[in-house]
Amino acid sequence: MSEPLYDVLIIGGGPAGLTAGLYTSRARLKTLLVERMILGGQVMTTTKVENYPGFPGGIDGPDLMMRFQEHCQEFGLETITGEVTGLIDKGDEKIVAVDGREIRTRAVIITTGAEPSKLGIPGELEFTGRGVSYCATCDGAFFRNVPVAIIGGGDTAAEEALFLCRFASKVYLVHRRDELRATKLLQDRIFANDKIEPIWNSTVDQVVGDNTGVTSLILRNRQDDSQRTLEAVGMFVAVGVTPKAHFLTDILDLNAEGYILTDSECRTSIPGVFAAGDVRKKILKQIATAVGDGAIAAIVAEKYLDNL
Ligand code: NAP
Repeated sequence: MSEPLYDVLIIGGGPAGLTAGLYTSRARLKTLLVERMILGGQVMTTTKVENYPGFPGGIDGPDLMMRFQEHCQEFGLETITGEVTGLIDKGDEKIVAVDGREIRTRAVIITTGAEPSKLGIPGELEFTGRGVSYCATCDGAFFRNVPVAIIGGGDTAAEEALFLCRFASKVYLVHRRDELRATKLLQDRIFANDKIEPIWNSTVDQVVGDNTGVTSLILRNRQDDSQRTLEAVGMFVAVGVTPKAHFLTDILDLNAEGYILTDSECRTSIPGVFAAGDVRKKILKQIATAVGDGAIAAIVAEKYLDNL
């Protein structure tokens, strides 16, 4: 039996992908959403989402994404688990390689998002899972009554530092400058919390450990170039994100950081291929903007299909 031809294939099941899927399924377009791991994306590792409209008091990330999924199911969105490794443009038809299977579709919406960036320092890889983590929500509870460090000065670092205070005896916030990038509200909470000690103008040179895991971090002061040892048995890295578009390097136009370049209507360099959410080069990465992107990509894809 030959493979069916989809109208739209969505790669990635975070807020942008699920929103696009909701819109295209509701428009009665034959849609398949392919997700590599679990539906929900980065929001699944967020404790409380406070700035998504409609939820006064906030909502837990997984609860919010469960609502997105239920909403998509109402319109019969088809989803599968699999890793997309390639995309071939054959004009009016695209071939998407998913775990060795070739799926035919008339349009593609890429919503693969982004993943936490690495520091690239000695000991980081070696101690990942043994004291080094990229997700405080996932791993914070393993660090009860011990000192930990969080690296970074953005919203993620600030939120994770506050979350880690529930467990750790002390949370060092190591930032390479002397002011945080995080929003003012989060900064106020950080500075009001006695458990959090900011360490300014500092980066991590090395993660030190033994067979029990991480035992300390070697920090470098960027002003006088001096080194010091910080006693911490956990290092949470929150230094930004890297777009998940490696598999598209030779296929689509990406910028130097690896983000997919699109116009304001989410069109990529290939007609019929759209990108939405954090994988796309844009000014603001939030759930609200991912949702907006997903809706735009779906509607523009629908118009593209109408015109074929
Ligand atoms: P981010 O805003 O890019 O912040 C990354 C932080 O890491 C910056 O403070 C940066 O320092 C620092 N950094 C980068 N590379 C480093 C390195 N090699 N060594 C040491 N420090 C390094 O990333 P993010 O906090 O993950 O946030 C990503 C996006 O998601 C942002 O748009 C953010 O607003 C959004 N977000 C929103 C929420 C929310 O609204 N509740 C929550 C989480 C994330 P500099 O400041 O010196 O550049």
